[in-house]
Amino acid sequence: MDNEKNDPVVTNIVATKDKVTTRVLAIKRSKKAKKSKVAKKTVQKKLPKDENELYGILDEPNINYVQFGVDKRFHTWYGTNVYFENGSRDLGIVIENNLNRESPTKKEPMKKKGTSEKSKMWLDTLFVCEYCFKYTDIEQHLIEHTKICKLKNNCPPGKIKYKSPKYTIRRIKGSKHSLFCQCLCLFTKLFLDNKSMYFKVENYEFYMLYETGDNKPMGFFSKDLLSYQQNNLACILIFPPYQRRQLGTLLIEFSYKLSRLQSLITGPELPLSPFGLIGYMYYWSNLIAYEVIDGQLSNRSTISLNELSLTTGIRTSDVVMTLKHLDCLDTKNRINIQMIREWFKKQKASKKQTIDNAGNIMIEDEYLLIDD
Ligand SMILES: [Zn+2]
Repeated sequence: MDNEKNDPVVTNIVATKDKVTTRVLAIKRSKKAKKSKVAKKTVQKKLPKDENELYGILDEPNINYVQFGVDKRFHTWYGTNVYFENGSRDLGIVIENNLNRESPTKKEPMKKKGTSEKSKMWLDTLFVCEYCFKYTDIEQHLIEHTKICKLKNNCPPGKIKYKSPKYTIRRIKGSKHSLFCQCLCLFTKLFLDNKSMYFKVENYEFYMLYETGDNKPMGFFSKDLLSYQQNNLACILIFPPYQRRQLGTLLIEFSYKLSRLQSLITGPELPLSPFGLIGYMYYWSNLIAYEVIDGQLSNRSTISLNELSLTTGIRTSDVVMTLKHLDCLDTKNRINIQMIREWFKKQKASKKQTIDNAGNIMIEDEYLLIDD
């Protein structure tokens, strides 16, 4: 408890929490305004610019680097204004009574390391705790916070839903851990340019990936509890230091394990980000090919799209997209099994495919803990 008083980063987050609330109100107003605009002008081919603003999207990156924990530093990919006070280039930091830092004033804004007036960057480095995603623009504050971060020193939040010797996935409810989930969503904005939300986290569940025995999150996907289409995934991101390890495939596969348990034929919220599409195409292609060549539909001379969808749990529209991508669908939407066979052979030969005898790529069924 007392630790929080000495935690320089907590102050920032309290301010952020208020800011998120303020922003939600602002968004409600702008949604209303937008509705009336759309009513007057019914044909709009492109996403209006103010819709991007609604999600805090900027045209170019505005934070140069993220320092994630004390030893990982990398560039941001996308610009976002969600970390900043409305209409300013200051982080959402308001109260700093007990900190050795001068408060920025209107006349003399505090200069950030490495930024100049000419720079397009609003901030050179955002320092983010790699355990709880709280943030600051002062390195020393992150160092001090890390020493006392509750999520570093205690168990991560949420309930374990998968635990293999290598990986653990925890389900974290936005309604229960709203501050953690809000900070996570803000961080995500730096690496995804889609319309991912960063408020109303109570409507979402977050499935967070850890290395078993370690408290550092490596990536996550979110699930919209109010999804009208019953999508099994809203947003997915593997954090930059942990990419290129097939962890996206692990989470995608896990999302389908959850929906299969409910007997749902489903898929991710569309449109997918470019990286998301690559990840899904890999998963869908391999699973479809597995079922056709080695799985439940093997030894069949013809297979319908509907059968393939029911067997894999993948939506028919996604099956069609995948088969077109593999060039295994003719103009009358008939599946060319021979072509799939050849593609699968090539995958096996090039060792790009690692699907096991149970049709799993990364998940090991015996470690699933999803039956509640
Ligand atoms: Zn922390």
